[in-house]
Amino acid sequence: MSTKNPDCPGYFLQFASDNTSGVCPEALAAFNAANSGFAASYGNDDATHQACDRLREVFEADAEIFFVFNGTAANSIALASLCQSYQAVICSDTAHVETDECGAPEFFSNGSKLLSAPHRHGKLTSSGVLEVITRRTDVHYPRPKVVTLTQSTEMGTLYQKGEISGISRIAQEHGLKVHMDGARFANAVAALNVAPADITWRAGVDVLCFGGTKMGLPIGEAIVFFDRKLGEEFSYRCKQAGQLASKMRYLSAPWLAMVNDNTWLRHAGHANAMARRLSEKVAGIAGAELLLPTEANGVFVNLPEPAIANLKATGWVFYTFIGGGARFMCSWATTQEAIDHLASDIERALAG
Ligand SMILES: *Cc1c(COP(=O)(O)O)cnc(C)c1O
Repeated sequence: MSTKNPDCPGYFLQFASDNTSGVCPEALAAFNAANSGFAASYGNDDATHQACDRLREVFEADAEIFFVFNGTAANSIALASLCQSYQAVICSDTAHVETDECGAPEFFSNGSKLLSAPHRHGKLTSSGVLEVITRRTDVHYPRPKVVTLTQSTEMGTLYQKGEISGISRIAQEHGLKVHMDGARFANAVAALNVAPADITWRAGVDVLCFGGTKMGLPIGEAIVFFDRKLGEEFSYRCKQAGQLASKMRYLSAPWLAMVNDNTWLRHAGHANAMARRLSEKVAGIAGAELLLPTEANGVFVNLPEPAIANLKATGWVFYTFIGGGARFMCSWATTQEAIDHLASDIERALAG
């Protein structure tokens, strides 16, 4: 599919996802720098040790950390490690684990059922979670054992730290663990301007799947077990799931580059700023309706079908099956120029 406007060479029209961007320069440089000589395999190399240590500093926690290839695997094996096959995972009905992972969480957990709870702007509510936990106690229904929340959410919104700790408290009171799908965790930290610890372990999160790909890495996510005991035998699970990279340094060295000098937050902050810019422009366009508050790096707009067709015909690439409207995702590589051009094309498309 073309992502360049023929009238405007070099111009990227790609807003389908934040994973359509390339690799950010810092990560690519680190990837190349890692390619010198020999290094121990399976994560026993210096880059991996250093990346883990730096992430522990970032989270102010003596966490157990694993690098895997993608987000579906990270979520699935992390969730599988938290529950037995007869237990269940509570998620929002818009959660990636529910809608976009092809049953992988159920597969890797040997059948743990996902129980979806209603959402508000993509966020679970503590009352919704409590309702699912207390719905049934009989042997015929799976026992809820984990609650998973996505930060930032699939709908471009953010959980405030109080919302996370509110859900965590209910989970803890009922013996559930808390998992966070952080495919866009960087965007959340940059937007909320908080310490990463404040919206994870200090708010009751036990395990975080920290997304690398969407924030600019070539490949890979980090699984962070704040409770080391939960991650005790996790390396076996990684290996069994085909997620233990032998040349681990190529996954971990780019992580090290991202956390150094807060590169990850700079890029995520840029992506958020681009989304905000688009959102502000869209708010001023007659006939365009923002469907959701723009809190991270995604903008969701209700547009009439002919306007969508017009934009797509012009070459703009975006999804319309997530969040109920046109979804425009921004990344570290999104330019201000592209945002301005998109906004003016939306206006033109609506003018008909
Ligand atoms: C992108 C994404 C993932 C991971 O997807 P992969 O394609 O498997 O890397 C997980 N959760 C959410 C919310 C995502 O947006």
